Amino acid sequence: MARTPLIAGNWKMHLSPAEGAALVTALVPAAAATTAEVLVCPTFIGLAAAANAAAGSRIQVGAQNCYWEPQGAFTGEISAALLKAAGLSHVLLGHSERRQYFGETDQTVNQRLVAALEVGLVPVLCIGETLAEREAGRLQEVLRQQVTGALAGLDAARLATLVVAYEPVWAIGTGVVATTAQAQEAHAFVRSLLVDQLGAAAAAAVRILYGGSVKPDNAAELMAQADIDGALVGGASLKADSFAAIIAAV
Ligand code: PEP
Repeated sequence: MARTPLIAGNWKMHLSPAEGAALVTALVPAAAATTAEVLVCPTFIGLAAAANAAAGSRIQVGAQNCYWEPQGAFTGEISAALLKAAGLSHVLLGHSERRQYFGETDQTVNQRLVAALEVGLVPVLCIGETLAEREAGRLQEVLRQQVTGALAGLDAARLATLVVAYEPVWAIGTGVVATTAQAQEAHAFVRSLLVDQLGAAAAAAVRILYGGSVKPDNAAELMAQADIDGALVGGASLKADSFAAIIAAV
């Protein structure tokens, strides 16, 4: 099945609103020149400026997280409903930094995912093993737990827009990229988990992005793999030339 590639930039806690808007503007030609979807995920404070700069272009703008309640006394949180009302299209969920530093669990990822789907945001579900887990031979166990935990109670119809990002934690921000064979093997396994959960046809339609030190010089080879449908890019998405080169590598 032909899946439209998605190249997503996770800006983490970088770039002021003005810097983000300038980066979006600089990326417009690269997004216009590809058939891939292009997404940037600024900080909450940078979302409006990025969305304004992206208006009328092929660049989509998403958030890096959302809370599951639609509104209420939840100081410091932003709901999926508020993100949707602000005109955003996507939300990253369960990024390893959220799991590692902010106590995110498969159960809270599931709650956020349900909320995102309810308002029509495209969820980009991030999963991946630590180096210790991989070395202990627990790769498949960890991925199975993360996928089944995050997707609990959701069927193929509700998950029609789901995007998954496989990001081995040991490759995030380290400069160490998974080999194409390691990445493809993990992606194929994730797709088999999706087949179990959603059925073959729906699983074949899910984009599975690779994340972890994607750079202009490794992007093309990674994305040429059968089950790699794009990239979630951290560091290299913060500069127009490197992110544009990754977009061009699709
Ligand atoms: C990420 O944070 O999702 C990521 C993949 O970061 P980097 O590209 O910097 O490894």
